Amino acid sequence: MQISEVRIKLMNDPHERLLAFCSITFDVSFVIRDLKIIQGAKGAFVAMPSRKLMDRCPKCHTKNHLRASFCNQCGVRLDENRADKDDAGRARLYADIAHPINSDCRELIQEEVLKAYEEERVSAQQDGYVCRYDDFGEEDYARLGPYEEDYDDTPQVQTARSESASIRKNGQVFRIDAAEEKSEAQRPHHSAADQPAADKVASNKNQAGSQGDSFGSGIV
Ligand SMILES: [Zn+2]
Repeated sequence: MQISEVRIKLMNDPHERLLAFCSITFDVSFVIRDLKIIQGAKGAFVAMPSRKLMDRCPKCHTKNHLRASFCNQCGVRLDENRADKDDAGRARLYADIAHPINSDCRELIQEEVLKAYEEERVSAQQDGYVCRYDDFGEEDYARLGPYEEDYDDTPQVQTARSESASIRKNGQVFRIDAAEEKSEAQRPHHSAADQPAADKVASNKNQAGSQGDSFGSGIV
């Protein structure tokens, strides 16, 4: 099995441990996306795509994240220690959606992805750089909706909006503070040359909180 392609989406935010998203293609045939490159204590590592584990409230049957102390729907107190523990005794709150099942494959993925990440950082410095990661823009329209019970980090979204937000443009992430956010039309990033991207930039301003959603997931 060969990794035939790696696509990287750089985050370019020195304040965050999340360095990039990436997708990998096996044998020009099968793509897995939403891998993360995370800055760890011993260097960058690759985290597999994962999902939050949920369970249903015993009273109203609404789904809650295993970390939730109260039901998001009916407010009943939930057992905080109900999640399974791993061998190290840590609560198992996430499950990998796709992952290698032996160390050879894990090392192959890690090696190829980190190599591609370094190459992407170099090419991102050049004029005309275009990110090839298939971005569905899901972070751009993150908002609370009828399924908000699926998200247990509503307060984080509020905090992010009042303190700071980041906007992404041409693969770069810019951090803006709340005061700047209010005078949207006067934001220095909006020059005449930016006009085609202005709508996208404006719609990005609330995304800061959405990234934290699955941050750190996939760490075993
Ligand atoms: Zn409930």
